[in-house]
Amino acid sequence: MSFKLPERFTIPLPPPDVFIAIRNEHGHYCPMSTCGGRMGWAARKRLEAAGISGRLMALVYARSCALDGIVQTTGCDEATGTLRLLPGGQQRLDLRTESGAGISVQLTAAALRRSGAYRQARAMLESQRAALSATELRQREAALAVQLDILLDELRTCPDEELMMMTELTAAVKG
Ligand SMILES: [Zn+2]
Repeated sequence: MSFKLPERFTIPLPPPDVFIAIRNEHGHYCPMSTCGGRMGWAARKRLEAAGISGRLMALVYARSCALDGIVQTTGCDEATGTLRLLPGGQQRLDLRTESGAGISVQLTAAALRRSGAYRQARAMLESQRAALSATELRQREAALAVQLDILLDELRTCPDEELMMMTELTAAVKG
């Protein structure tokens, strides 16, 4: 079985409550859990738009903050055996039916760069924390919080194509 996406359809962006639910599960707002939410949402909504229903299986290739976003938006998780972690290390999600048909979503280099820049700024602040005065520390933390807010807003609202590459997965051929 293969599937055909409807012509000229648009996938809506995840509504704000999706990101709130991810934060509640994940414990903090961060770029990668946000990206994971976008990946899972984009994949699931495309399968729904193509009329694919039934039990879905998620394959992920890295254990990172993105996992909580993927769990929240796909409904797949390790506890129920519907999400499996495979080696590879890429920020990639394969969402497929039991026949193997589905969609593979991988974060773009640009998305990884944007998330990485924030992670580095945060690590830099942590490494300098002990040497900073209370005032400096407050200023740096405030600046970092602003950087995070701007980045999260971009990651929540940018078009899918800026964030991820998508490939259709076809069912395994029998015999
Ligand atoms: Zn996180």
